[in-house]
Amino acid sequence: MTCDFSLDHYAELLDAARAGGYRFAHFDGPPEEGDVLLRHDVDLSLDAALRLAELEASAGATATYFLMTESVFYNLASTEGREAIERLRGLGHRVGLHAVHPRLELDERFDAVVAWHNPDPEYMRAPVEGAVNVMQDGYFDPATYRSDSNQHWRSGCPHEALREGAFPWLQLLTHPEIWVYPGRTMGETMRAMLDAERERRLGQLADDRIDLA
Ligand SMILES: [Zn+2]
Ligand SMILES: [Zn+2]
Repeated sequence: MTCDFSLDHYAELLDAARAGGYRFAHFDGPPEEGDVLLRHDVDLSLDAALRLAELEASAGATATYFLMTESVFYNLASTEGREAIERLRGLGHRVGLHAVHPRLELDERFDAVVAWHNPDPEYMRAPVEGAVNVMQDGYFDPATYRSDSNQHWRSGCPHEALREGAFPWLQLLTHPEIWVYPGRTMGETMRAMLDAERERRLGQLADDRIDLA
């Protein structure tokens, strides 16, 4: 098995979690023994989020997608954004807010759960009013947390430990873009994402009746 950042290996991670006896849980209560909380911070691409969401659904897994309302990369208020939320919900996933500190505007689009985008240590783990902070006590512990940040596992890919049932529970943070677009490094992956984005944008321009002749 190659620990690359691909949809194939993401599917293998889900398999490993199942083989290890874990169940897929959400942020509606502190994780219990045997829970795997699949967390996705959607920083860059709703398309990537939806592709991962479809894969999870076909593997019988549900996750929590944290979406931004003030991203420079996508517009959650657009038709595309509203349809993305609808599709995520339709597949059985949860939707939380990927907020930019200090703004925390939870509206009816979101469950009462928040993940800060690029948080500073001062507020990263602090409880928030009226919602769960995914990094607060009870939901976060370095021993039961893994993240793929910048296409790098700080403590190694968790597939083996999942398969062995070695974690009491796990919060697994993955960024959909990293798994959906090809590349051996974050730089390559981002360039692949931008190539795909260019095609998508050309389609949007045509839809918007822009003459591309
Ligand atoms: Zn692996
Ligand atoms: Zn983020």
